[in-house]
Formats: sequence, C-alpha cells, structure tokens
Amino acid sequence: MTSYPDVKLLINGEWRDAIGGRTLPVFDPATEEKIGTVAHAEKADLDAALASAAKGFEIWRETSAFERSKLMRRAADILRQRKDDIAVLMTLENGKPLEQSKIELANAADVIDWFAEEARRTYGQIIPPRFAGVSQMAIKFPIGPVAAFTPWNFPVNQVVRKLSAALATGCSIIVKAPEETPASPAEMIRCFIDAGVPAGVVNLVYGIPAEISEYLIAHPVIRKLTFTGSTPVGKQLAALAGLHMKRATMELGGHAPVMIFDDADVEKAISVMGMTKLRNAGQVCVSPTRFLVQEGVADRFTEGFTKIMADAKVGNGLDPETVMGPLANERRIPALEGLINDAVAHGATLKTGGRRIGNKGYFFEPTVLANVPTTARIMNEEPFGPVAIVNRFKTLDEAVTEANRLPFGLASYAFTTSTHTAHVLGQKVEAGMLTINHNGLALPEVPFGGVKDSGYGTEGGSEAVEAYLETRFVTMAS
Ligand code: NAD
Repeated sequence: MTSYPDVKLLINGEWRDAIGGRTLPVFDPATEEKIGTVAHAEKADLDAALASAAKGFEIWRETSAFERSKLMRRAADILRQRKDDIAVLMTLENGKPLEQSKIELANAADVIDWFAEEARRTYGQIIPPRFAGVSQMAIKFPIGPVAAFTPWNFPVNQVVRKLSAALATGCSIIVKAPEETPASPAEMIRCFIDAGVPAGVVNLVYGIPAEISEYLIAHPVIRKLTFTGSTPVGKQLAALAGLHMKRATMELGGHAPVMIFDDADVEKAISVMGMTKLRNAGQVCVSPTRFLVQEGVADRFTEGFTKIMADAKVGNGLDPETVMGPLANERRIPALEGLINDAVAHGATLKTGGRRIGNKGYFFEPTVLANVPTTARIMNEEPFGPVAIVNRFKTLDEAVTEANRLPFGLASYAFTTSTHTAHVLGQKVEAGMLTINHNGLALPEVPFGGVKDSGYGTEGGSEAVEAYLETRFVTMAS
C-alpha cells in the first residue's frame, strides 16, 4: 500500500520544508485520522517562490513551443505510469472512491496532452496593410508568471488545467494547491519536474489561502490570477486582481438545473443523473442539483432517482464496493444539515437521506428533497454535497424561467427527444455549459466555464490558452 507522505513546497526546483518549519496536519475524511502533514509557507517562502517564478519565466518563454510540448507529453506519460499509486493518495486525502481517483488522474494526463498540442498552435495574425511595403503582425506572447488557487474537490484536475495552459503558452506558475488534499497534486507536479521542466517554471505552495492570495495577486511579478472555488471568494479575488490590473480567470460555484421533459427517456435520465449526482459525493461545481421534471414523468423520475440515491453504497473510498465516499471535510456536514433542515421547515418532502452516517468519518446519506419552495435556502445556495432537489414544472417556458432564476450559470442538463425543445434550451438557458441526453462535460477539448456569478473564462478547448497569452502588435515599413 502506498504510504502517505509529508508534503513539501516546490520552489526553484527543490522540494523543501517551509523556511519557518511550520506544517499543517492532513486528515483522512473516512477515518478522521491524521495521515500526514503539509508544509505551511510564510512570506519568506512566497518571496522565494516569486523570485523562482520570475527566473522560471525567463527560461520558459525562451523555450520553443515544440520543446515545451515535448516535455509536457513526457510528463503526461509519467503521470499515466504513476496513476495507480497517486490515486491511493487522492482517495486517502479526499475520500472519493479509488476508481474515481484513477479516472481523475487518467483524465489529467489527457488534459496535459491536449494543452501540449495547443502549445504549438498559439498563432498570431498577419494583417493586410493599407500601404505597399508595410507589414502588420499581431503576435501572441505568454502573459507572465501565473498565480493559481485550486480547491480540494478535484485535487489534481483543478490544478492540471491551469498548470497545462500556463506551461503550454510559456508562462511560469505558482500553484497554491489545497491544504486538505496536498499530496496528489504534488505528485502530479512531480511528473513535470521528472520530465525535465526547468527549475522555477512550476512552483507549489500551501498555507493560509487568504494570506497567500492577497500577497501574490498584488505582487508585481504575478501577471495573471486563476481561481477555482466559491463565488464569494472569487468576487473578492477578482476585485483584488482588478485593483492591480491583473488578468483573471474565475471558475466559481454553480447550482445546475436538470430539465426532464415528458418526452424524455426517463430511465436514461435516472441512471445517468444518479451516477452524476453521486460522483465525488456531489462536491462538484457542475453537480446536478435542481431537478425540474415535467408533470407527466415526475412521479416515475422521482421514484427511480430516489431509489438510486437510497441504494448507493456509501463507504471508505478504498473499498471496491463503495459508490460514494465521505464528504471531504467536516465543515460540509453542518452546512448540508442546515440546508436540508431549512428546506423541510419550508415545506419540502424529504424522500431519502438527510443525515450524517455514524460518527466516525464524514459520511453523509445521499439525499433527495421534493417540492422545495424557492424561498428555501437550498433553492438559492449551492449545496455542494450529495443532495438533489426534485421539483415539477408544466411548460417549457416555466422550466427555462426556473433554470435562469439564480445568479449562477455554470452547468445545465436536459433530457428530451424533441429537437424543438433542445433548440430552445440551447438558445435560452443562461449557462456556460448545457448537456442534453447525456453527461458530456469536462473533456479537455471542449469549453469548461461559467457565465454570470459562476465566473468568466474557459479552462478547456482551444480558447483556454488565450487566457494565458497577450497580443502585441508590430508593424514595419520597408
Ligand atoms: P471556501 O469558500 O472557504 O473555499 C473554497 C476554496 O477556496 C478552497 O480551496 C479554499 O482554500 C479557497 N479559498 C478560500 N478563501 C480564499 C482566499 N481568500 N484566497 C484564495 N483561496 C481561497 O469553502 P469550502 O468550505 O472549502 O468549500 C465549500 C464551497 O466552496 C462550496 O460551497 C463551493 O461553492 C465552493 N467550492 C467550489 C469548487 C468548484 O469546483 N468551483 C470547489 C471547491 C469548493
């Protein structure tokens, strides 16, 4: 069995303790036992990381796109070789079933490959001149050292999209990875170092998130901020980025609607959405949350979906039978209980679940609430856990109005066999992503991002590298 390491900082190519020697404990959410520590960076470490990133940028921007691409592909291959060992670390620190950890790591290798390909396609433009003898060029340059802040729900996936886009374009990066789940992102980053990415290009720190973000975003070395997390924190960091004229990408919270129409394949909707809701114990920004079901199929859907949720085996992620692991940290338990109790107090029906399981490990029952009024908190706040709301609607207009009611606009889902309905949804639903009749989100080659309060910028598809590039114009006359 892979043993859990004491996780170190990575600065200037060296894996090391914090200068002050401080550490934070890391816990297994399935057992509540301390499994290791993570180095806690302070100002002196951040200054060292900034100097390292500045130096790394000078080297990396001069490294050809062809060479960058080659090193990235090598890192992806190393990650594939180490996937099974790193997956154990991820399950120990995050709780998700081992199979889900392995999938996350396999997907991460694909993300690196995708961005390695894009590295060679950061084309500019030759613009036709008005006068003979004049040439006009728009050239893409890497924006500079990037500060990336990532959460604990997908410890590797959240880092790898930012890291790969930065490296593809010639930027260096300081990653502030999650203190709750530090080992798997560190081991993913080690693959880049072992592949031969020069010292200083990738730096990794942990510590107090607010202190680190405040210091790094304001610092003149940093040219871009990228953050995944909650909307309130995202707004604070975007404001700070604005104050210091730094580019920003914001991947924030969601409250995904799932619209199921009378003409839908209801059995498919039940099985696809059941597995999607249970994944990572619902701690997913694109997790399906507000199920809006047309009256003709509402009873059938509610019954089938509730059964999947009630029957799901909840347990330690290392147990191969486990479908859903524990919540990743203790604070999610009172957060979910508060939302569920409030919904019931507002008249919602608790179809299944609603409580913590046992008193050791942060296990929580998969939960279904039906007929929840819009005045309940859970209809307005992201539950970020294994809780689904099932409400009814009569008309397409009503479904679209409810889907668009909230300030969030990240993922949305629909099940229908009507091309008219599908077309209307594609035009009218205010969400960064809409997936109809399957769950087709989050591939490296397609856009991934939100609108409205869910943030801005995409972390997938060919647009993703643009966020790490600046355009400069050069014109010459002979
Ligand atoms: P939280 O808002 O305290 O933290 C969310 C993430 O942001 C964490 O990784 C945290 O380290 C980081 N963070 C918090 N304050 C920061 C700051 N000032 N500077 C830099 N980073 C900062 O909440 P939490 O209890 O960890 O998670 C619950 C909420 O966070 C959820 O309700 C959800 O909305 C959001 N979240 C979203 C995602 C996502 O994928 N979009 C992932 C994890 C958490």
